Amino acid sequence: MIIKKSPAEIEAMKEAGRISAKVLREVGARVQPGISTLELDRFAESLIRLEGGIPAFKGYGGFPGSICASLNDQIVHGIPSAEVILQEGDILSIDTGAIVDGWVGDNAWTYPVGVISAEKQRLLEITEKCMWAALDAARANNRLGDIGAAVQEIAEEAGYGIVREYVGHGIGRKMHEDPNVPNYGRRRTGVKLEAGMVLAIEPMINIGTHMTKQMPDGWLVVTADGSPSAHFEKMVAITEEGPLILTTEAGYTRPV
Ligand code: MG
Repeated sequence: MIIKKSPAEIEAMKEAGRISAKVLREVGARVQPGISTLELDRFAESLIRLEGGIPAFKGYGGFPGSICASLNDQIVHGIPSAEVILQEGDILSIDTGAIVDGWVGDNAWTYPVGVISAEKQRLLEITEKCMWAALDAARANNRLGDIGAAVQEIAEEAGYGIVREYVGHGIGRKMHEDPNVPNYGRRRTGVKLEAGMVLAIEPMINIGTHMTKQMPDGWLVVTADGSPSAHFEKMVAITEEGPLILTTEAGYTRPV
């Protein structure tokens, strides 16, 4: 069941979105060779709490961190670790969120560690482009398939694999609400989008195959062929005036 939010509820969700965006930006600014993903996690948790939020990920289904930190061929759900030390040329997906007044924020970005290869740079650029196109499709009277198709058209044109098993989602008082928001689809198909829906849109794109592999810790997901993967995520409210991005620090403006 899709839980639509009133304009007042969307207003109330903005603070969780703002803190989530701030923490993501601040953690991203600390991504550099030599730092461990556990250090990034500790920093994220302290900043979330300092800002008045509760880490949305910590304890979710037993997840131990306040961020997911997924390196290179790791797609999502990497557990922060003192053993994972960032190295020049890596790419690191950070996914994090805060709960404020019972409303959940959720966003992700993939950061370069120092200088990265042209191949990885292109992956980041294309995956970010997929995200913005999908956000722009989050409009009343569009359909869910329009969001997925927006991602799919760009990713496949670039020759990349689109992760199928993990998808975006509705969000509100729970991190994962209906509907699922796949990163593939056909235009003019699927659930009709309506004002009041709030979605977390999060393309996960691989340079190689779309196939994934679940690692034995029960969390970490990697690409089946070991190729690099990127992940970008923002929360968007569908409004009568168009898409309204909630995970932002300034202005709650439109994507395009
Ligand atoms: Mg999400």
